[in-house]
Amino acid sequence: MNPQLLTQLRHLHLSGMAEALPLRVEQAKSGPLDAVEFLELLVGDELTRRADRLFARRLKQAGIMAVKELSDFDFTFNPKIPRTRLVELATARFVCSHQGVLLIGPPGIGKTHAAVAIAVGAIRAGYHARLRSVFDLAADFLEAEATGQRRELVDRLTRVDLLVLEDFGMKKLGPSAAEDMLEIFVRRHETASTLITTNRPTEDWGQFLGDIPAATAILDRFLAHAEVIRMQGKSYRLHQRAQRAATADRGRSSS
Ligand code: ADP
Ligand code: MG
Repeated sequence: MNPQLLTQLRHLHLSGMAEALPLRVEQAKSGPLDAVEFLELLVGDELTRRADRLFARRLKQAGIMAVKELSDFDFTFNPKIPRTRLVELATARFVCSHQGVLLIGPPGIGKTHAAVAIAVGAIRAGYHARLRSVFDLAADFLEAEATGQRRELVDRLTRVDLLVLEDFGMKKLGPSAAEDMLEIFVRRHETASTLITTNRPTEDWGQFLGDIPAATAILDRFLAHAEVIRMQGKSYRLHQRAQRAATADRGRSSS
């Protein structure tokens, strides 16, 4: 093959075509493929590659390190978890209508798994998502305070289509963070979606936000347009641990 052609394709930012070209040429040699079909395949290769790259970039921007899907979620393990509602949320329609979601339940029940799967669904639907745990948030606020970039942080967290805040209530945020959080919620109210996961009742939010009026105002706005999903059942994490221990035991006794 003409190596210059590959260089030219890359020069035109058609690296998906460049990558697929050797394979497609082989395919064309080995079977009936007319010129238009050949071009269609190559254009398809380029489009697929662009979509894959955009998806990977959006995942990275969202802070999603490991993709989770609801198709990998065993709904028979905790049958009270509402499958239909979670699957509906993963279609991202709630992001379009600026609804909120609160996933509330004990540790290990699958809140993070479901939240990531829903965020991945939103990204697939073309939205920007951002996932921050309360531990990340605490660090973000401290760093922004130290570098004088609180405004930028608030803007960043305000702008995104779907903001996923994980483990609300697991760590205390300082009073200035509470103020910033309130601003974020006020500005996102009815204009963007927020998904919160927590294992703490909402009555405790004032305590960990360190500012009861701010927490009440946040809750008011958030719950006015939020679907509350209670996830009840056993910890899958403990189940995984027990399974690993049983496998290790079997390994030991057979050796
Ligand atoms: P939580 O955020 O509620 O503490 P996670 O979502 O982190 O729980 O779940 C703990 C682990 O168990 C994760 O690896 C998750 O993928 C897995 N997990 C939880 N529930 C299920 C389930 N029903 N089916 C499959 N995997 C599950
Ligand atoms: Mg979690």
